[in-house]
Amino acid sequence: MKTPEIFRCFLFLRVLEEIYSPVQKISFAPLNNLFVKRDDLIDPYISGNKWRKLKYILAKAKDENKTHLVTFGGAYSNHLVATAAAASRSGLQSTAFVRGEEVKNEMLLLCSLFGMKLIFTDRESYRDKLQLFAKHFAHDEQAYFINEGGASVEATIGCAEIIDELTAPYDHIFCAAGTGTTAAGLLSGIRQHQLNTKLHIIPVLKGAYFIQEEIAQYTPVSEHLKLHLDYHFGGYAKTTPELISFIKTFTAKSGILLDPVYTAKMFYAIQDLAKQGIIGKDEKVLAIHTGGLMGLLGMMDKF
Ligand SMILES: *Cc1c(COP(=O)(O)O)cnc(C)c1O
Repeated sequence: MKTPEIFRCFLFLRVLEEIYSPVQKISFAPLNNLFVKRDDLIDPYISGNKWRKLKYILAKAKDENKTHLVTFGGAYSNHLVATAAAASRSGLQSTAFVRGEEVKNEMLLLCSLFGMKLIFTDRESYRDKLQLFAKHFAHDEQAYFINEGGASVEATIGCAEIIDELTAPYDHIFCAAGTGTTAAGLLSGIRQHQLNTKLHIIPVLKGAYFIQEEIAQYTPVSEHLKLHLDYHFGGYAKTTPELISFIKTFTAKSGILLDPVYTAKMFYAIQDLAKQGIIGKDEKVLAIHTGGLMGLLGMMDKF
């Protein structure tokens, strides 16, 4: 494992436990060698890439003796649930600024049960996160700022560990992207290990041209990176009947759940690129299952 020196000492704090994230081969025509890195199995609440992203953020917060995590997200944010669960398990307090007017839903219920305090914030004020933090927590020395989605250098270091854990080489690795922080971590892991693997990123937002710049903030962008901007299905959290039908077939055949916001769009893209022959059917492909399945609970109406 290539944990940078300055972070190594934090591991003794055991902020987050050891994890179980096996690589499993699944049958997925037309590919003969599709493997899935099951980060969705890490934890139901601190799920997938959110666990990866929070690992060193929490370590840093603890190292700075902060006891109160303050973060930001939309009303269906996987990051908020993950932060709330991680905070309570580590004996920390948590507060979230939630974008938009006050609502109730399954995800915010989980946040509240984990003891997170929710501050609903109008869209205008929500934009300036540092100002919000300063306004509410300037005098709270225990408060620790965590950006929306956990975007940070610490998050990329945690995500790069996905690559450390691989025991076999792959021709292609696929991952869904929102902010692109996870993608940056994976690219940096591929670079550290000098792998000859292509990293295919599927942004779930429409017109996500910003992703490349976002990734470049953390790690040099190389020819290893392939962005596929055409699998957003209408935009963030948008779906189509075709995507929903894809999820049903995939899950019934593989026993692996997908969420319509992120991982379904990634698996759909893999199949489509394989059908077009852009990915060879005998090449070794690894899909990162970034978790986020709790969100399904609020999506009855999409099915
Ligand atoms: C948050 C999330 C992502 C996006 O991660 P980024 O680092 O913001 O690109 C992908 N998949 C799932 C399931 C998520 O919850």
